[in-house]
This record gives sequence, C-alpha cells and structure tokens, in this order.
Amino acid sequence: MDSDGLVIVYTGGGKGKTTAALGIALRAAGYGKKICMIQFIKGSWHYGEADSYKRLMPEFEILAAGEGFVGIIDDKSPREDHVRAAAEAARMSSERIKSGRYDIIILDEINYAVNLGLITANDVLGLIKSRPPGTDLILTGNHATDEVIEAADLVTEMREVKHPFKRGIKARKGIDF
Ligand code: ATP
Ligand code: MG
Repeated sequence: MDSDGLVIVYTGGGKGKTTAALGIALRAAGYGKKICMIQFIKGSWHYGEADSYKRLMPEFEILAAGEGFVGIIDDKSPREDHVRAAAEAARMSSERIKSGRYDIIILDEINYAVNLGLITANDVLGLIKSRPPGTDLILTGNHATDEVIEAADLVTEMREVKHPFKRGIKARKGIDF
C-alpha cells in the first residue's frame, strides 16, 4: 500500500481549491516530477495558470476539455455540449492516468462535473481505481460526493470565513483568475 499514490480532495465553499492543487504542482515540478492538470469545467474567463504552466513545461501541463460554465446566464451552449466536454475530459483523464507517465494528475473541478450530473460518481471511482501505483490524484471542486471522500486519503474542506466578493469586491487578476 505504501507505494500507492494518494488520492487528495479539495472541496468546500471557500476559496483555495484549485490554487491548492496548483501549489502542489509548483512544488512537485521543483523535483522534476511530471504533473498533468485536466480541467473538467472551463469558465468563460481566462485563468493565469493557462499561460504560466508553459513556463513549467515539460514537467507541468494543463489540458482543457470543458466549455463554459453550466447554468450561468451567459452560458449559451446546450447542456449536451457540456456533457460531451465532461465525457471528453474523463476520457483524457483515463488515458493519462493509465499511462503511468505522470507522478501527479489533477482533475480540476471534477466534483462540480459530478454535482451537475455531467459525469457520475462511479466514473470518478473508476478513474481513482485505475491509477497505477505511484500516481497521486488530486480532485477539486465543491460538493465532493461521500463515495469520493470515502475513497480519498486526504480531504480538505475549504470553509469560507470571509470573502471580499460578499462586499461587492470583484475578482482580481492573479488572485482569483
Ligand atoms: P481558486 O481557483 O481561487 O483556488 P476555488 O478553486 O476554490 O478557487 P472555484 O469554486 O473553482 O473555487 O471557483 C472559481 C472562481 O471563483 C475563482 O475565481 C475563485 O477565486 C472564485 N471563488 C472561490 N471561492 C469563492 C467564494 N467563496 N466567493 C466568491 N468567489 C469565490
Ligand atoms: Mg476551482
């Protein structure tokens, strides 16, 4: 069991889930470890890490398959597009996980994809079970299911104590996106 990769979950309603995963990527790249982040839900916003990871290539790569947030007002894509994108992200994840080429694989916002019904909790458990020894998995997104929490080794729930958004302060470049 010792050589098995860990399953790490960052969930909860407070800020810091994706950035915690990126923090591990930054740390691990320092040891020359190979890290792949796959985005399950891609917002209409541009995130800084979509560019900065290129400075950490080839150790770190980010792949996006999702398109647009589901359920927000400016979301024009039909639901089946989101289902297809999430299925594509799951397929890409499965391929990368099974390859054994990576030390760490980050499934970013995968918990939201389950919560939105784009993929199932069983799909996630299948990905977790398919990891070869020595590959760590990091799953982010609020509303992690009980099954995923049960399967994980490390679970941190981000709890919002204060957030400037609640005072009407907009998202900031480099902090929020
Ligand atoms: P981050 O990417 O900053 O670590 P996150 O992964 O914990 O955030 P998500 O649920 O993925 O949070 O939300 C993505 C966006 O919403 C980011 O721009 C993030 O900064 C912002 N955000 C996260 N938590 C909150 C909150 N409690 N209130 C308002 N905005 C938030
Ligand atoms: Mg996030």
